[in-house]
Amino acid sequence: MALRITVIGAGICGATLADALARRGAQVTVIDQALPAGQATGGSFAWINSNNKPPRHYHDLSVRAMAEWRQLAASFGAPDWYTATGALTWAVTDRGRAALAEKVARLRDWEYPVEELTASAAAALEPALRLPADASFVFFPAEAYTHGPAVVDALLTRAQAHGAQVLTHEPVTGLTTVGGRVSGVRLASGRTVPGDLHVCCAGWRTPDLVEELAGGQVSLVPVDTVGSKAPCLIADLGLGQPAPIRRVILAPDITARPGGDGGVRVEAPDLTDRIHRHTPDAERAAMSADLVARTQRLLPDWEPRGSRQFQVCVRPLPVDGHPIVGWLASGLYVVVTHSGITLAPLLARLVCRELLDDHLDPVLTPYRPDRF
Ligand SMILES: Cc1cc2nc3c(=O)[nH]c(=O)nc-3n(C[C@H](O)[C@H](O)[C@H](O)COP(=O)(O)OP(=O)(O)OC[C@H]3O[C@@H](n4cnc5c(N)ncnc54)[C@H](O)[C@@H]3O)c2cc1C
Repeated sequence: MALRITVIGAGICGATLADALARRGAQVTVIDQALPAGQATGGSFAWINSNNKPPRHYHDLSVRAMAEWRQLAASFGAPDWYTATGALTWAVTDRGRAALAEKVARLRDWEYPVEELTASAAAALEPALRLPADASFVFFPAEAYTHGPAVVDALLTRAQAHGAQVLTHEPVTGLTTVGGRVSGVRLASGRTVPGDLHVCCAGWRTPDLVEELAGGQVSLVPVDTVGSKAPCLIADLGLGQPAPIRRVILAPDITARPGGDGGVRVEAPDLTDRIHRHTPDAERAAMSADLVARTQRLLPDWEPRGSRQFQVCVRPLPVDGHPIVGWLASGLYVVVTHSGITLAPLLARLVCRELLDDHLDPVLTPYRPDRF
């Protein structure tokens, strides 16, 4: 009889895993408290990269994950939710140039594809950008981006074609146990869904669900504190309009890429550092206006006329920055990670082999929950 596996959470981690498990013949039930991709995955910048992922083991994991994305996309033909056009960056100040040169040296040493460009070559890649003439330009040709909601939809649809059940608007409130082994999940609706194995992919809410059984093994940055690094500000500008850029742009004060529904998706690392869930409305509005102004400086001839949307999204952030992947208790497994867009397809493949074949891949050794 097929193994009954319950996946809690339909973000990128849950969706990639459900797809991989269902295609291997497991009887999969995916449960989300709301709609799929409604949390970090939907709000993500979704840049697929290993651009700044030291130490070496984490860099190598991310590079493998980039290759896994190419395979995943190819398995769907040529899906419009995966675009491998690389990423362009530049530095203007002495400090910025030094940091970029150091990064380029490290990435070259690690055999990561990096190209230094002239200003005219950079302008030819992205003609709509206002680029400083006197800057150091670098292109990362192997990088890509995706659109979280679209890829999750494709993965869940394929999982369903392989027999998976997807339950939405069904918050999981707890886990049931029999003889110390997790035997099912309790839903807010009062129903219990029995299973043989349970994988928690609930993003930043994971600790709430597993704490009782896992006892501190899922250690995430707290979300609600003033100054927490988990919340991010992200904006979609010019929704419905053609995108003026083709790839991920990492400018000194803003990052941008084509949006999933047209226009551009933008964020700024310094604003993300400052925003938290208690940021007063007026300050949040000023940050949003700042994001728009930076976009206009980057794309001076592009006028975002369509509608715009600003979101404060919460990232699941393990306290040491690295994935948490492994058994928490008998019958209960966890996958929670930052950079989950980049890593999820690879983690899904590795976890699928662990759950179905008992194959423990040494590449996951640094990321086991018992390190905390
Ligand atoms: C603004 C922003 C920018 C980012 N940029 C990048 C990037 O460029 N590259 C990159 O690789 N990563 C990036 N990330 C990180 C990445 O998006 C996340 O690591 C990834 O989306 C996490 O996926 P997940 O499936 O683990 O969690 P989520 O997408 O949060 O999904 C968890 C799901 O679990 C459900 N859930 C939670 N609790 C329950 C419950 N009790 N019952 C049922 N369901 C429940 C939620 O509804 C949700 O759908 C970014 C994140 C943000 C927010």
